[in-house]
Amino acid sequence: MHVMHAEVGWVEVICGPMFSGKSEELIRRLRRAQIARQPLQVFKPAIDDRYHATQIVSHSRAAIEAVPVKDSEELARRVRRDTRVVGIDEAQFFDDGLVEVVERLATRGSRVVLAGLDQDYAGAPFEPMPRLMALAEYVTKTLAICMRCGAPAGRSQRLVPDGEQVLVGATEAYEARCRACHSPRAEATTRELFGGDGGE
Ligand code: ADP
Ligand code: ZN
Repeated sequence: MHVMHAEVGWVEVICGPMFSGKSEELIRRLRRAQIARQPLQVFKPAIDDRYHATQIVSHSRAAIEAVPVKDSEELARRVRRDTRVVGIDEAQFFDDGLVEVVERLATRGSRVVLAGLDQDYAGAPFEPMPRLMALAEYVTKTLAICMRCGAPAGRSQRLVPDGEQVLVGATEAYEARCRACHSPRAEATTRELFGGDGGE
C-alpha cells in the first residue's frame, strides 16, 4: 500500500559575525541545489546594495543571482508555487514578519536557507535572527578569525565612532573580533594600533 504524504520542508540558518563566511556557505548550498535542478529562488533585502543590486556577493567574490525585496511581505508574494528551495541573505535586515513567512514556506514543503548576523556590533542579539534560529531544523554558526589575536571570532567590531552614520555594507567600518578583543563601542583598527602610523 502506498501512503501519500505531503512534501516535507525545513529551515536552515547560517549565522555568525561579519567576514565569517555566511554568504560563501549560503552560495555553496544554493549552487548545489541549482546543479541538482531544484526549482530555486534567492532573495535579499533591498537596503543592502553593496557590490551588485541583483546578486549576493561574498567577501571572497563568490556570487549568485538574487532578487532584492523591500520586506517579508514582498518576499512572500514573489515566491512561486513550484519553488522547492528559497535562499535568503542578510536575514537580520528583514522585519519580524519574516519569521511567519519562513514557517509557512517550510510547512508547505520548501527548503528555506537563511544567512544573517546573529549579533549586532554591540554584541546584542539581532532580531529576527534569534527567532529564526529557534524554529530552524539546522543551525550553523560560522566564525571568522580575530583581527587582533587570531582566536575564533564571533563578533563584529565597529571601527567608526558611535553616532557617526555607517552605510549599510560599508565593510571597512567593521572587523572580526573574538569575545576578549571585542568592545561594544567603536574602536580603532588593528592597523592603527599595531601599524606604522604612530599608535592610537
Ligand atoms: P559573511 O557573509 O559572513 O560576511 P563572506 O562569505 O562574505 O562572509 O566572506 C568570507 C570571506 O571573508 C573569507 O573567505 C575571507 O576571504 C574574508 N575575510 C575577511 N576578513 C576575515 C577574517 N577576519 N576572518 C576570516 N575571513 C575573513
Ligand atoms: Zn581576539
